[in-house]
Amino acid sequence: MNAEIVAIGSELLSPYRQDTNSLYLTERLNQLGVEVIFKTIVGDERAHLTSAARTALSRADIVIFMGGLGPTEDDLTREAVAEALGLELHRDDAILKQLEQRFAARGYKLTANNHKQADVLTGAVVLANLKGTAPGQWIAGQYEEREKLVLLLPGPPFELKAMFDEECVERLRAKLPVQHIAKCELRVAMLGESLVDSRIAPIYKRYSDVQTTILAGAGEIQLHLRCRGESLEAAQRRVDDLATKIEDELGDAVFSSNGESLEQIVSYLLQMRGMTLAVAESCTGGLLSERLTSIGGASRYFLGGAVVYSDELKTEMAGVPARLIEKHGAVSREVAIALAEGIRARAGSDLGVGITGIAGPSGGSEAKPVGLVFHALAHREGTDVIEKSFPGDRKRIRFFASQQALDMVRRQLM
Ligand code: AMP
Ligand code: MG
Repeated sequence: MNAEIVAIGSELLSPYRQDTNSLYLTERLNQLGVEVIFKTIVGDERAHLTSAARTALSRADIVIFMGGLGPTEDDLTREAVAEALGLELHRDDAILKQLEQRFAARGYKLTANNHKQADVLTGAVVLANLKGTAPGQWIAGQYEEREKLVLLLPGPPFELKAMFDEECVERLRAKLPVQHIAKCELRVAMLGESLVDSRIAPIYKRYSDVQTTILAGAGEIQLHLRCRGESLEAAQRRVDDLATKIEDELGDAVFSSNGESLEQIVSYLLQMRGMTLAVAESCTGGLLSERLTSIGGASRYFLGGAVVYSDELKTEMAGVPARLIEKHGAVSREVAIALAEGIRARAGSDLGVGITGIAGPSGGSEAKPVGLVFHALAHREGTDVIEKSFPGDRKRIRFFASQQALDMVRRQLM
């Protein structure tokens, strides 16, 4: 069975609020073996709502409406869905009583506009709202002579989650054929999306039963593999099979097959090797240190980081000779090496990282354009440098640089 999620609320069409509920629902539905085939966002406009409801009902087996169940004028979900399904609404006395009691318990009197929260579509099962006032509804109905399952759920995320988990999951499971979803998530460092895709597409195209989704970020690509089946073992075998072939193709650019972040992998490796790390960061301004220390227990291997933005502090805190900066410029291969070696010596760590570059938007030149970053890693056998020209804005360039540095550490430890 497949589903469409309809998120209702004019605020969701503004630049200020996002529909996050559907992400939650999609994950839950996928766990049940239900694929989400459409998501619609619609404002609090009766005609638009009815039209969105009709469209969704015409193409999905399960339609989940969320939001617009409150007491105010703009809460029109019940009315619009009733119209689309050709069902009547009636006021449910039991719900009305509960609402009255709920209000009384807080010292309020139920106002007239609240009454419509007790309106129920003919034949609907009422879903208790454990965290708020508006109850949800579960309707096994028909649309264009086909069986449809329609859910009305509240918009506030904590109400929606509670209602879906407590009131809907078991009911849904009982209606669905037993289906399992096997998954695997591979993460790839410092390769471009199109390069990765061109290398792995010939492989995953041979696995038409495994859905492969590519999510690209700065210096990282996530490959999400999913397979559905009546037996979890069989589905997992297909996913693992494909994952192995992709790993063979991409080699050590794949840093994780369990969804771990790059900093997590670096953390494992440093602990496994019993080694320590210190960093001197210029253009990343502490981002690398932030990522390293976001992992609990980082004190076991991360000695510390210096943010050395000015030339003076590069000299004072990381021991970069002033004449080196004068000769080559602060953004240079030589200074990156000196930062890495300097911080390693001063911290007494096994590894030292130096990063210097131009994050932009200003400060670039023809010889040294925005995006140019030098990354150095000092270790017992010497110092490696990687020069990169990263695309994108300041935020993206800085993340790229931290990612590149982490990847150098990872490769050194492998
Ligand atoms: P409503 O049930 O339409 O009155 O929504 C109440 C609150 O829930 C509002 O503050 C909304 O911003 C929030 N909300 C509604 N729909 C969503 C959604 N799809 N994702 C995240 N928040 C939502
Ligand atoms: Mg609303």
